[in-house]
Amino acid sequence: MKICVIHTGGTIGMVATETGFAPKEGLVEAELERLRAAGEITAEFQLVAAQPLIDSANAMPSDWNWIMEQVVARHDHCDGFVVTHGTDTLAFTAAALTFGLKGLKKPVILTGAMLALSEEGSDGTRNLTEAFLAAGTAPAGVWVQFAGQRLHGARVRKSHSVEFDAFKASATDMPPHQQDETLSMVSYSGASALITAVAPGMSADLVALAAERAEGIVLRVYGSGTVPEGLGLRKALQRARAQDIPVLAVSQCAEGGISLGTYSAGALLQETGAIDGRDMTVEAAYAKLLHALSVTKDPSERRRILRTRLCGEWAT
Ligand code: ASP
Repeated sequence: MKICVIHTGGTIGMVATETGFAPKEGLVEAELERLRAAGEITAEFQLVAAQPLIDSANAMPSDWNWIMEQVVARHDHCDGFVVTHGTDTLAFTAAALTFGLKGLKKPVILTGAMLALSEEGSDGTRNLTEAFLAAGTAPAGVWVQFAGQRLHGARVRKSHSVEFDAFKASATDMPPHQQDETLSMVSYSGASALITAVAPGMSADLVALAAERAEGIVLRVYGSGTVPEGLGLRKALQRARAQDIPVLAVSQCAEGGISLGTYSAGALLQETGAIDGRDMTVEAAYAKLLHALSVTKDPSERRRILRTRLCGEWAT
């Protein structure tokens, strides 16, 4: 059994500095050697580290591309992958890899830690050990292994900013995997998208500005799919429609999702062609929007992709 470890940074491999925790080279490598010597990890492994290691707050779509390139380059030589990553944007990366990789035959397991390996009582040791186990046993696809749970890559969200048990994922009946005979990846282009939320008294001008400047918008709407019906938002969404800027609507509620058409106060979304994001997480919605913008420049093909369930990103 051979596991490829892709180390990107994050708290797991950080040390305390004068300005706060920051990545340090060699920490994850040393812990893996210690676990191997102690017999906690039995698989052979090979590690590739990002240069430089980053706090995942600084992760960009180009970092998602780098991770996917490492997976594609080693896919035939490894039985599974462990990606060590910061927790702040881990859910974005997990979703981005689930949309960007097609035809995976191996598990890709993202993990990290809430407390650095350099600190007493770190959860990094447990998460690393369990991620190794998952990389040898999980079905093909992109998963997050954290605090004893294996979570769907396109359904996961960071739900707690402090506790070890920091991630949740709602159920879905489709694995985090797009089937294909051969492995391929779609790189994320430099397309720009905005996540914005409706709020009482909001300035809809900013949504209109986004329709001018961005190539796509994730709109976080109320509850099961309502928005303020004032003229401002209507005009902004009409402008987005006229410019072929896809607007992907998701709920501000973490669970349950939207169902456009339930309330009259949501009719505006349908009238202006907003796409129903159902119960996608905001992270999955953003990654899927960037994926659709990267695949094609054709507006109707972009909308078709956004309306298609690719890898269990919504429940049913
Ligand atoms: N700021 C850190 C990061 O996302 C947090 C963590 O890893 O837990 O890189």
